[in-house]
Amino acid sequence: MMVEKFEYLSKILMETFEEVGQKNPLGEVADYIPELSKADPECFGVSLVDLSGKSVGYGDFEKKFSIQSITKVFSLSLCLGHFGEKIFKRVNREPSGNPFNSLVQLEKENGIPRNPFINAGALVISDMLLDIFDDPKQGYLDFLQDISNNDNLSYNPKIFTSEKENKERNAALAYFMKSYGNINNDVDRLLDFYFFQCAIEMNTMELALAFRFLANHGLVPHSKNRVLTASQAKRINALMLTCGFYDEAGDFSYRVGLPGKSGVGGGVVAILPQNFSICSYSPVLNKQGNSTKSIQLLEMFTSNSGESIF
Ligand code: GLN
Repeated sequence: MMVEKFEYLSKILMETFEEVGQKNPLGEVADYIPELSKADPECFGVSLVDLSGKSVGYGDFEKKFSIQSITKVFSLSLCLGHFGEKIFKRVNREPSGNPFNSLVQLEKENGIPRNPFINAGALVISDMLLDIFDDPKQGYLDFLQDISNNDNLSYNPKIFTSEKENKERNAALAYFMKSYGNINNDVDRLLDFYFFQCAIEMNTMELALAFRFLANHGLVPHSKNRVLTASQAKRINALMLTCGFYDEAGDFSYRVGLPGKSGVGGGVVAILPQNFSICSYSPVLNKQGNSTKSIQLLEMFTSNSGESIF
């Protein structure tokens, strides 16, 4: 991206960040596990990185937070890159229109989750990933470190333990799918790996950097490592656009117009293919479990800058 354009986007992002920062977001910090409810509702930060590595951050952009469901994009990328299209025999590609941890569709649809970005889908993807690594947690971190050029990534053991102590809903999803033959591994081992992924901590700059391969035809910009083919990257972006925000995916596309993914930790990442990656963090969530301020910020940023995929 030309320097002038980057400076123009940085300025719009700064103005938008200041304006949204003055608003009181509607919603609550996630409380389904006690550890997440300790997040500071005042925190707000954003980072934008282009494909050549120019970057800008405002507010609490270096504050680490729990990436939660944003991790589902990394898992899907790893899995699709390794196994290819056959993964879609075990998980579909349709928006669910239901909350992220819903059980209702699974029975009617024979234990095949609607898409890889709801919990049921991510559990199936994680089940496949368990088979490709001798040490799945280390393998996962190595992948993340590679795509984000960062050796300093880790998980929060308190969040991990809190997830495990409140595992009932995810355990129910996993056992239910196992009864249909769609989970192969031991459920406790699977949940341990899934909660580890959710408990990984990153800041907005690290996440924006890590997502750039999806804006770059599947190629990591700094290392030129190929994570996905161009076609696979395009397809993951399509899934983010249609399924990245649970039962708010349509509204996010309508308001923001970028493929993206949220997590109940308060992060939202979005990309503009061939241009940039942007990540916002504010832990106050709306009732769909998406960060209220982050969505406001991205909506205003794409409206004011005229940058979106449409
Ligand atoms: N750890 C969360 C869960 O599995 C992730 C959900 C989310 O971010 N939406 O319930």
